Amino acid sequence: MKVEPNEHRAAMNIAPGIHRIGTNSIVNSYLIEEAGEVTIIDAGVPGYFDDIPRELEAMGVTVGDVRALVLTHGHGDHIGYAERMRRENKVPVFVHEADAALARGDVPNPAKGLGPFRLAPLIGFFWFSLRNGASRTPQVKEVTAYGDGATLDVPGSPRVTLVPGHTPGSAALHVASLDALFVGDAFCTYAVTTGRRGPQVAPFTADADQAIASLSRLDDLAAGHVLPGHGDEWTGGVAEAIRQVRSAGR
Ligand SMILES: [Zn+2]
Ligand SMILES: [Zn+2]
Repeated sequence: MKVEPNEHRAAMNIAPGIHRIGTNSIVNSYLIEEAGEVTIIDAGVPGYFDDIPRELEAMGVTVGDVRALVLTHGHGDHIGYAERMRRENKVPVFVHEADAALARGDVPNPAKGLGPFRLAPLIGFFWFSLRNGASRTPQVKEVTAYGDGATLDVPGSPRVTLVPGHTPGSAALHVASLDALFVGDAFCTYAVTTGRRGPQVAPFTADADQAIASLSRLDDLAAGHVLPGHGDEWTGGVAEAIRQVRSAGR
């Protein structure tokens, strides 16, 4: 198959104002743009840093237009290039107050091990992580903590809903102007450990029962673009995604 030069770039354009970094959806980092200014939502793996200038250029902006980097939670595969962006580009990094210590590396990961897995997707995930420098992810030295219900004063004005379970400070970020809900690992649409697709509890979840119960906090939200930390965009509506997570169970 002949690969067109722009093929992978086009694949990262989710919707006007929403781009995703990464040539696949194993680990997602999103760029959102509003009025020429940019917020990054989750920083994936360190190797994505080099993709940012080209991706911003495709959006008609530059690194100097990035105003904030907002983490959905404090796990390493979301922190990725955050510290480098903070240090080199003076971009403030936001995280829920209950995950601030996790993002700084002051407390251990609350996840209880691997859970069920299949070898092929798991090896794929670890190989991808290794190639992209995940084992050397720097913790974020300084974070700005946000709280439940906050509307962040950054491009896109994401509104925070705390959905604890995956981690204590896991948050969903609703960007109404872009019709988008960034769920982090509150649920995923691709399990990196089993290869299973569709809305489901994410691997490395600290408390799966709490994670499922927390999703009722998203019941009243509507979004055409539901964007998880792992897996493809979900366009079937928030309510249907939650129904599928519940029916898949823990
Ligand atoms: Zn996570
Ligand atoms: Zn994750």
